[in-house]
Amino acid sequence: MRNKEKAMRQFIFLDRDGVINVDSSKYIKNESEFKFIPKSPEAIALLSQNGFDIIVITNQSLIGRKMASQKTLDAIFKKMKDGINKTGGEIKDIFFCPHTPEDNCYCRKPEPGLILEAKKKYSIDLNQSFMVGDSAKDIECARNAGCSKMLLVKTGNGIKAQQQLFQKGIIPDFIGKNLYEAALWIINSVNPK
Ligand SMILES: [Mg+2]
Repeated sequence: MRNKEKAMRQFIFLDRDGVINVDSSKYIKNESEFKFIPKSPEAIALLSQNGFDIIVITNQSLIGRKMASQKTLDAIFKKMKDGINKTGGEIKDIFFCPHTPEDNCYCRKPEPGLILEAKKKYSIDLNQSFMVGDSAKDIECARNAGCSKMLLVKTGNGIKAQQQLFQKGIIPDFIGKNLYEAALWIINSVNPK
Protein backbone atom coordinates (compact mmCIF):
# COMPACT_ATOMS: atom_id res chain seq x y z
CA MET A 1 0.00 0.00 0.00
CA ARG A 2 1.53 3.28 -1.11
CA ASN A 3 0.15 5.46 1.60
CA LYS A 4 -1.76 5.06 4.80
CA GLU A 5 -4.70 7.07 3.55
CA LYS A 6 -5.30 4.53 0.84
CA ALA A 7 -5.42 1.71 3.34
CA MET A 8 -7.98 3.49 5.49
CA ARG A 9 -11.48 2.92 4.16
CA GLN A 10 -14.16 5.43 5.05
CA PHE A 11 -17.61 4.13 5.79
CA ILE A 12 -21.00 5.71 5.34
CA PHE A 13 -24.00 4.29 7.14
CA LEU A 14 -27.31 4.86 5.40
CA ASP A 15 -30.79 4.42 6.71
CA ARG A 16 -33.00 2.75 4.08
CA ASP A 17 -36.65 3.89 4.22
CA GLY A 18 -37.01 7.61 3.57
CA VAL A 19 -33.37 7.95 2.50
CA ILE A 20 -32.83 5.42 -0.30
CA ASN A 21 -36.45 4.51 -1.01
CA VAL A 22 -39.83 6.12 -0.51
CA ASP A 23 -41.06 5.35 3.01
CA SER A 24 -44.56 4.25 3.94
CA SER A 25 -46.39 4.29 7.28
CA LYS A 26 -47.74 0.91 6.17
CA TYR A 27 -44.21 -0.50 5.82
CA ILE A 28 -42.49 -1.77 2.68
CA LYS A 29 -43.91 -5.29 2.61
CA ASN A 30 -42.85 -6.58 -0.81
CA GLU A 31 -40.62 -5.79 -3.77
CA SER A 32 -43.28 -3.88 -5.68
CA GLU A 33 -43.66 -1.44 -2.75
CA PHE A 34 -39.95 -0.64 -2.91
CA LYS A 35 -39.40 2.51 -4.98
CA PHE A 36 -36.21 4.54 -5.12
CA ILE A 37 -36.32 8.20 -4.14
CA PRO A 38 -35.20 10.11 -7.27
CA LYS A 39 -31.40 10.36 -7.55
CA SER A 40 -30.70 8.13 -4.53
CA PRO A 41 -29.03 5.36 -6.62
CA GLU A 42 -26.95 8.07 -8.32
CA ALA A 43 -25.98 9.46 -4.91
CA ILE A 44 -24.76 6.04 -3.78
CA ALA A 45 -22.90 5.55 -7.07
CA LEU A 46 -21.15 8.88 -6.52
CA LEU A 47 -20.09 7.84 -3.02
CA SER A 48 -18.91 4.40 -4.19
CA GLN A 49 -16.92 5.96 -7.02
CA ASN A 50 -15.30 8.34 -4.52
CA GLY A 51 -14.01 5.37 -2.54
CA PHE A 52 -16.52 5.18 0.31
CA ASP A 53 -17.91 1.92 1.64
CA ILE A 54 -21.67 2.00 2.07
CA ILE A 55 -23.48 0.06 4.78
CA VAL A 56 -27.25 0.11 5.22
CA ILE A 57 -28.48 0.28 8.83
CA THR A 58 -32.21 -0.26 9.05
CA ASN A 59 -35.02 -1.08 11.47
CA GLN A 60 -37.30 -3.68 9.88
CA SER A 61 -39.81 -4.45 12.61
CA LEU A 62 -42.17 -5.86 10.01
CA ILE A 63 -40.31 -9.15 10.60
CA GLY A 64 -41.09 -9.07 14.34
CA ARG A 65 -44.65 -7.97 13.56
CA LYS A 66 -44.97 -10.97 11.20
CA MET A 67 -45.98 -8.71 8.32
CA ALA A 68 -43.31 -10.15 6.01
CA SER A 69 -41.02 -13.17 5.97
CA GLN A 70 -37.24 -13.08 5.97
CA LYS A 71 -37.37 -14.36 2.38
CA THR A 72 -39.48 -11.36 1.33
CA LEU A 73 -37.17 -8.92 3.13
CA ASP A 74 -34.19 -10.53 1.36
CA ALA A 75 -35.96 -10.06 -2.00
CA ILE A 76 -36.57 -6.36 -1.21
CA PHE A 77 -32.89 -5.95 -0.28
CA LYS A 78 -31.90 -7.67 -3.53
CA LYS A 79 -34.05 -5.29 -5.56
CA MET A 80 -32.35 -2.35 -3.81
CA LYS A 81 -28.83 -3.71 -4.34
CA ASP A 82 -29.48 -4.62 -7.99
CA GLY A 83 -30.87 -1.16 -8.75
CA ILE A 84 -27.86 0.49 -7.12
CA ASN A 85 -25.37 -1.82 -8.89
CA LYS A 86 -26.97 -0.98 -12.22
CA THR A 87 -26.34 2.72 -11.54
CA GLY A 88 -22.69 2.08 -10.66
CA GLY A 89 -22.90 2.03 -6.88
CA GLU A 90 -22.37 -0.70 -4.33
CA ILE A 91 -23.87 -1.63 -0.98
CA LYS A 92 -21.18 -3.43 0.99
CA ASP A 93 -23.49 -4.85 3.62
CA ILE A 94 -26.88 -4.50 5.28
CA PHE A 95 -27.47 -4.68 9.02
CA PHE A 96 -31.10 -4.75 10.10
CA CYS A 97 -33.06 -5.01 13.32
CA PRO A 98 -36.02 -7.42 13.02
CA HIS A 99 -37.44 -6.63 16.48
CA THR A 100 -40.42 -4.58 17.63
CA PRO A 101 -40.05 -1.74 20.16
CA GLU A 102 -41.52 -4.06 22.84
CA ASP A 103 -38.55 -6.43 22.44
CA ASN A 104 -36.27 -3.81 24.05
CA CYS A 105 -33.31 -5.00 22.00
CA TYR A 106 -29.94 -3.29 21.61
CA CYS A 107 -30.10 -3.20 17.81
CA ARG A 108 -33.23 -1.16 17.12
CA LYS A 109 -32.27 2.43 16.35
CA PRO A 110 -31.76 4.77 18.28
CA GLU A 111 -29.78 2.04 20.07
CA PRO A 112 -26.28 1.78 18.56
CA GLY A 113 -26.16 -2.04 18.22
CA LEU A 114 -26.25 -2.29 14.42
CA ILE A 115 -23.48 0.24 13.88
CA LEU A 116 -21.35 -1.41 16.57
CA GLU A 117 -21.88 -4.79 14.89
CA ALA A 118 -20.72 -3.32 11.56
CA LYS A 119 -17.74 -1.68 13.27
CA LYS A 120 -16.68 -5.05 14.66
CA LYS A 121 -17.12 -6.93 11.38
CA TYR A 122 -15.19 -4.43 9.24
CA SER A 123 -12.86 -2.85 11.88
CA ILE A 124 -14.42 0.54 11.13
CA ASP A 125 -12.92 3.69 12.58
CA LEU A 126 -16.11 5.44 13.67
CA ASN A 127 -14.19 8.72 14.01
CA GLN A 128 -13.98 8.70 10.21
CA SER A 129 -17.55 7.56 9.54
CA PHE A 130 -20.79 9.22 8.50
CA MET A 131 -24.46 8.45 9.07
CA VAL A 132 -27.26 9.69 6.83
CA GLY A 133 -30.84 9.35 8.03
CA ASP A 134 -34.28 10.93 7.76
CA SER A 135 -35.42 10.29 11.36
CA ALA A 136 -34.34 11.50 14.77
CA LYS A 137 -33.59 7.90 15.75
CA ASP A 138 -30.98 7.61 12.94
CA ILE A 139 -29.11 10.67 14.15
CA GLU A 140 -29.38 9.54 17.78
CA CYS A 141 -28.12 6.07 16.83
CA ALA A 142 -25.09 7.59 15.10
CA ARG A 143 -24.45 9.77 18.13
CA ASN A 144 -24.82 6.84 20.55
CA ALA A 145 -22.39 4.75 18.47
CA GLY A 146 -19.84 7.57 18.17
CA CYS A 147 -20.00 8.34 14.43
CA SER A 148 -18.06 11.41 13.44
CA LYS A 149 -20.65 13.12 11.25
CA MET A 150 -24.46 12.95 11.29
CA LEU A 151 -26.47 14.07 8.29
CA LEU A 152 -30.23 14.52 8.11
CA VAL A 153 -32.13 14.47 4.82
CA LYS A 154 -35.55 16.05 4.34
CA THR A 155 -36.97 13.15 2.36
CA GLY A 156 -39.14 10.80 4.47
CA ASN A 157 -39.47 12.04 8.06
CA GLY A 158 -36.75 14.66 7.77
CA ILE A 159 -38.78 17.78 8.44
CA LYS A 160 -40.38 16.34 11.59
CA ALA A 161 -37.03 14.92 12.68
CA GLN A 162 -35.40 18.32 12.47
CA GLN A 163 -37.84 19.66 15.09
CA GLN A 164 -37.53 16.61 17.32
CA LEU A 165 -33.74 16.83 17.29
CA PHE A 166 -33.80 20.56 17.90
CA GLN A 167 -35.96 19.98 21.01
CA LYS A 168 -33.35 17.52 22.28
CA GLY A 169 -30.53 19.94 21.51
CA ILE A 170 -29.05 17.69 18.84
CA ILE A 171 -27.83 19.51 15.76
CA PRO A 172 -26.96 17.43 12.68
CA ASP A 173 -23.71 18.35 10.94
CA PHE A 174 -25.62 18.83 7.71
CA ILE A 175 -29.28 19.02 6.70
CA GLY A 176 -29.88 18.32 3.03
CA LYS A 177 -32.77 18.11 0.65
CA ASN A 178 -32.01 14.50 -0.22
CA LEU A 179 -29.30 11.84 -0.29
CA TYR A 180 -27.70 13.38 -3.37
CA GLU A 181 -27.10 16.67 -1.53
CA ALA A 182 -25.77 14.73 1.46
CA ALA A 183 -23.38 12.80 -0.81
CA LEU A 184 -21.99 16.02 -2.27
CA TRP A 185 -21.49 17.42 1.24
CA ILE A 186 -19.64 14.28 2.37
CA ILE A 187 -17.34 14.27 -0.65
CA ASN A 188 -16.60 17.96 -0.22
CA SER A 189 -15.92 17.57 3.52
CA VAL A 190 -13.28 14.92 2.83
CA ASN A 191 -11.74 16.61 -0.21
CA PRO A 192 -12.56 20.32 0.10
CA LYS A 193 -12.43 22.18 -3.19
MG1 LIG B 1 -35.96 6.23 7.64
